[in-house]
Amino acid sequence: MELLDQIYKAGVVGAGGAGFPTHIKLKCNVEYLLVNAAECEPLIQTDKYIMRHNADEIIKALSFMAPLVGADKVIIAIKGKYEREIQALQSAIKKLDSKVELFYLKSVYPAGDEQVIVYEVTGRVIPPGGIPLSVGAVVSNVATVLSIYDATRGKSVTDKIITVTGEVNNPSLLSVPIGTPILKCIKAAGGLNIKDYCVIMGGPMMGRILSSDEVEQRTITKTDGGIIVLPTNHYIKERKSLSVQHIINQTKSACIQCSYCTQMCPRYLLGHPLRPHKVMRAISMSLDHSEEIFKEALICCECGICEMYACPMGISPRQVNIIIKNELRQKGVKFNTTLKIIPDEQRDGRQVPVSRLVQRLNLGKYKDIKFDDDAIEVKVNIVTIPLKQHIGKSATSIVAVGDEVNKGQLIGEVKREDMGANIHASISGKVTNVSDCIIIESSEVIL
Ligand code: SF4
Ligand code: SF4
Repeated sequence: MELLDQIYKAGVVGAGGAGFPTHIKLKCNVEYLLVNAAECEPLIQTDKYIMRHNADEIIKALSFMAPLVGADKVIIAIKGKYEREIQALQSAIKKLDSKVELFYLKSVYPAGDEQVIVYEVTGRVIPPGGIPLSVGAVVSNVATVLSIYDATRGKSVTDKIITVTGEVNNPSLLSVPIGTPILKCIKAAGGLNIKDYCVIMGGPMMGRILSSDEVEQRTITKTDGGIIVLPTNHYIKERKSLSVQHIINQTKSACIQCSYCTQMCPRYLLGHPLRPHKVMRAISMSLDHSEEIFKEALICCECGICEMYACPMGISPRQVNIIIKNELRQKGVKFNTTLKIIPDEQRDGRQVPVSRLVQRLNLGKYKDIKFDDDAIEVKVNIVTIPLKQHIGKSATSIVAVGDEVNKGQLIGEVKREDMGANIHASISGKVTNVSDCIIIESSEVIL
């Protein structure tokens, strides 16, 4: 079977982001195949775990992927400070006599932004609003590459490695079936060690605070990699929980036009015409030419530097950009520019070191947590598996209530030519509900 068919069959999607279906992404012809191994969100350890434990599989998968996309340069972009992971990858490269190269990134945030990685490795700037393909590159993250390896062995995407950290008794790396409840993951990491807590799904910068209903109901999907538990009065919770009206009022009353948000914006530093301070000014002054300025919000990657690090007034340009983006997208507005894109000369000096970011985020208490070298395997007897865990069309259920299914069995299907991804049973058991999610229950006794 062809590799793209194997990837489609296994339901592989981008594991580090919005879940772009991989069999569609890799249908391309490029010069560079890049692996995003930056794992730049503070506290998250998932990709580093995968690199230490599955280096051989990653290098083998790249040997299949390179001819598929026609790449003659295959480069893993990894932070130079990830010494153990570099060692694991180097010995796999040597053992397998591979031509894969390593590129060492600085420990800055967001080193893992796709546009930043492509610029660092190739020296090419992706046009604003564009994708790596436009400069001859395709980027996959390490967890996706491992899923591709698994696909070549006939294994579909059924389990995830998840970092659970923060205010839990035993911060851990877990191996969990997709569809496992978040609360079960927290329990597997020793349970909560505080009473008033909030849960961030993902990293502290780009992750989302879950509502109390979501904490009860949300389950692990193909794109999850981290769960962070923090006290409810934590800086991050306060910054991320502001209402839209509060943010707009704050923008109008408190923005001093210092432009730090722009000066530190990673996309602005790459030369993109994104100037959050101008967007904020247009909001507060209701300027005539606001529409043109607002379009700049469309090229914001939502990294959070402006909101969580740069702004001295506690304002959230990122949130404002998200609101504007949603409105413009609904109107079908797209970003276009004929400007020549040249990175800012000050870029090197204005990048944000992760160590400083951790202090600003008040995460120093959690930064040196040591994790066991092996992930805890979590067993569950009920999983709730969403039929849409990816960009594009939802999968269509091909099972009915009462069906017995085996782990790895196809339960939700998309057509080969559609934008979407297949869904598989992550445990063996009986289907007890089919809606936008499929619930599978097992009678196995879990100790
Ligand atoms: S979130 Fe802020 S810093 Fe990040 S890209 Fe958007 S405007 Fe720039
Ligand atoms: S950093 Fe804050 S105060 Fe300064 S221009 Fe940006 S939003 Fe306004």
